[in-house]
Amino acid sequence: MDTEFALDVERVRADFPILSQEVNGRPLVYLDNGATTQVPNPVLDAVVAHYRTDNANVHRGIHTLSERSTAKLEASREVVRAFLNAASADEVVFTSGTTASVNMVAYAWEARLAPGQCVVVSALEHHANFVPWQQACMRSGAEFFVCPLTAEGEVDLGALEARLAAGGVSLVAMAHVSNVLGTVVPVGEVVRLAHAHGAAVLVDAAQSVRHEPLDVREIGCDFLCFSGHKVLGPTGIGVLYGKGELLGQLAPSWYGGEMVAQVTAALTTFEELPLRFEPGTPNYVGALGLATALDYVEGVGRKAVAAREAALTAYAEERLRATKGVQVVGSPARRAGCVSFCVEGAHPFDIATLLDKLGVAVRSGSQCAQPLLDETLGIHKVVRVSPAFYNTREEIDAFGEALERVVRLVT
Ligand code: PLP
Repeated sequence: MDTEFALDVERVRADFPILSQEVNGRPLVYLDNGATTQVPNPVLDAVVAHYRTDNANVHRGIHTLSERSTAKLEASREVVRAFLNAASADEVVFTSGTTASVNMVAYAWEARLAPGQCVVVSALEHHANFVPWQQACMRSGAEFFVCPLTAEGEVDLGALEARLAAGGVSLVAMAHVSNVLGTVVPVGEVVRLAHAHGAAVLVDAAQSVRHEPLDVREIGCDFLCFSGHKVLGPTGIGVLYGKGELLGQLAPSWYGGEMVAQVTAALTTFEELPLRFEPGTPNYVGALGLATALDYVEGVGRKAVAAREAALTAYAEERLRATKGVQVVGSPARRAGCVSFCVEGAHPFDIATLLDKLGVAVRSGSQCAQPLLDETLGIHKVVRVSPAFYNTREEIDAFGEALERVVRLVT
């Protein structure tokens, strides 16, 4: 029995039947968890059970099913609040994912931007936390500053501090963990620096939600975003956390039903938090799926999940570094969740295609991080391997052996 890192992986894997299949005649080795994680049976069961017995639209009705649906939505909000240690469930807005959460803040924040002001992102951002800010700056005339990285692939905190000290920075938007390099950004330190200069901070926690403690009060961030599908939840559900005081000052980005208090031809007034940021029918089934997923992670143990993923990622990196012809991208002091690499003389798409023929699922391409891969590193495309806690050491070995075969074939 594999109980490495305080986790009974055989028991865990029994909850993920999708992992026990063959792909191209080989046992599936799923190492694309940075893109999306698999969904355990308790989450699937909760979603199906809701549709079977409790389904009705939330908030709108006073009938029993609607009340049940509404109660589950609000109970799910409380689960997210506890997961993030937010001060109030009113600070938890359900969105369709990280991308929607960032866009929502960027649209609302645009009202505060003007020429002479600045939004800072880093050079390691996913497009989801880069383009919305770039566009908001273009529309408002504010400066868009991309904080450079060190040679190791860390955010250059000296450069960040220098830009903050130069003045006019309204908001810093930064990933907690890079989806390409795996760099763990010291977001607590980023918050300290930004707040010292009067700037707000948004943390993109899409990649850190399984790997790092996400205590929003300890981090001190003003906003934090993540997606359900990267933490064992369903697709189409995500979270925007916003510090109540600040979130309450922002105008809604989208309009529609449920988020309004009073609508007349002359004027519309809006609901209190969090409803004013949830126009239309929310993805309440997704929300309860996400809450079940977070409960599942808590049940396995957040520390055990993070420790096992760190160990598997380190082992994958070790194997990659020992493989002739393979270059690992970046060498941050702390890496979480993924390792990216290139194979000399071979296109990443070819590597991923050949690995798939051997049953191994990895991601290849620009990883939605062109500013990093094109402008900073100049390598354009990489292959990324991203283990989850339900992966095993034997699977990393299988990946390593498959890669050695592929490298021999293409070089
Ligand atoms: N931010 C980071 C760091 C990511 O890795 C991703 C997805 O890979 C996103 C944002 C966007 O997440 P989603 O596509 O779920 O909105």
